[in-house]
Amino acid sequence: MANDLRKTGIEVVGDMPWGAHFCLFYETKDDLLDILISYCKAGLESGEYCLWVVADPVTNEEAMNALKTAVPEFDRYLADCSIEIITAHTWYLRDNEFDLSRVTAAWHEKLAQALAKGYAGVRVTGDTAWLRKKDWRDFCEYEEGLNEAVANQHLCVLCTYPLSACGAVEILDVVRTHQFALAKRHGSWDIIETAGLKQAKAEIKRLNEDLEQRVLERTSQLMRASEALREMQTELAHVNRIATMGQLTASISHEVKQPIAAARNNASVALRLLRRSPPDLEEVREALNCVVNDTHRASAVIDRIRDQIKRAPAQNESLDLNDAIIEVIALTRVEVANGRLEVQTRLAEGLPPILGDRVQLQQVVLNLMLNAMEAISLGVDGPRTLLIGTEQSQTDWVLVAIRDSGPGIGPEDLERVFDSFYTTKPGGVGLGLSISRSIIEAHGGRLWAEANLPQGAAFQFILPAASKELMTRRANYEDRGQSAGHAIA
Ligand code: ADP
Repeated sequence: MANDLRKTGIEVVGDMPWGAHFCLFYETKDDLLDILISYCKAGLESGEYCLWVVADPVTNEEAMNALKTAVPEFDRYLADCSIEIITAHTWYLRDNEFDLSRVTAAWHEKLAQALAKGYAGVRVTGDTAWLRKKDWRDFCEYEEGLNEAVANQHLCVLCTYPLSACGAVEILDVVRTHQFALAKRHGSWDIIETAGLKQAKAEIKRLNEDLEQRVLERTSQLMRASEALREMQTELAHVNRIATMGQLTASISHEVKQPIAAARNNASVALRLLRRSPPDLEEVREALNCVVNDTHRASAVIDRIRDQIKRAPAQNESLDLNDAIIEVIALTRVEVANGRLEVQTRLAEGLPPILGDRVQLQQVVLNLMLNAMEAISLGVDGPRTLLIGTEQSQTDWVLVAIRDSGPGIGPEDLERVFDSFYTTKPGGVGLGLSISRSIIEAHGGRLWAEANLPQGAAFQFILPAASKELMTRRANYEDRGQSAGHAIA
């Protein structure tokens, strides 16, 4: 309420808050009337009660006539007593004495009456041309007190001082006791900064800075929130891809099972035909040809998947493998808890970034981790640990190793495990490692298996580190607003 702004009607001032107490130094009667007419006009038109205390050389009549000319509905305002023009002698002096507390109390009385009648507040202007030397000190005290008296009240006070009556000391007193001062400089009205105004401006500046700070904080909160959202979306995409991978392997196994079953049938037929005496070699050849065709069909399905992986529009973003691995570990929390095993990490600091598809590479890590967990769960005595490590290898490569304490892989099977459909698990599909290898090779890397010491298997892959030139080229390209995907294509 106290903050609602009022039009002063004075162009150079603009709006003012309730509780404004300012002063004006004038040289001529015209200058004074010029300002006060528009000040009162703005007040009347804003539903305020106006009180104009006139003093020599302006008379009540002059003020009245000037207002009549300037304010279109002045007669109505006059009729409903929205404005009162009164002489300084009547208002400020009683029995020819100036009594500051009586005058201050009188303002408050006026205010109470105006508010009771439904006015928005009281707008006052009082001239001081009547002031005598002996009253000066008291009047300064009154002006000073007025700042507090009008604060938080629906009151605005404009005090006018004839410049001719003010020496330097008086001007200083007046300026000091008001929030700001108006004077004519080089022919036009200007605001003279006072300590109070400076303080108010400093306060506004501080509030603005506070506001800016809060806007900044809010913006960064929003950015953090949208970053979290983006991460969640990535995670969701990731989970989706994993689900898709599961569906994919299920449908592949279905598609492949059929030609494999046919091959098995045809092979049995061939065996049976061979057992005949004499065997019908022509029929055997035919049956064996069918077996060859069946296996071709099966491998065609696998080639199709490989092609899909290679042709998949891989995202070529610069990524920190350590971060990508940490995310995957977070995803496997439940499995880790259920498997009663310990996941250790040995992630190299300052690992160079690599260029690649985050989701595809995370699939590889996830697949290797799940295999390792399954191997550990096979229940070999001893520690149940899964160790994931990264290191920079030969300056231009990044190496990732996933080591487990499971039963391990015999030397003859270290390469076979990557064959499609090679599986030793009852419900296994045997595609995880084959797909993982395709993904790593599509990234220009290599994936292989080794024995882990003292026990278990170690799956490792290397990927080329993003070279500095490539990264710079990429950054330049991105700066030009191009899509990163094309930049390195
Ligand atoms: P799946 O897990 O469906 O069997 P994979 O291609 O992922 O398919 O794995 C193929 C086979 O490789 C597994 O069945 C298992 O015999 C062997 N293997 C994979 N990872 C490990 C490991 N960490 N320890 C021992 N054997 C493993």
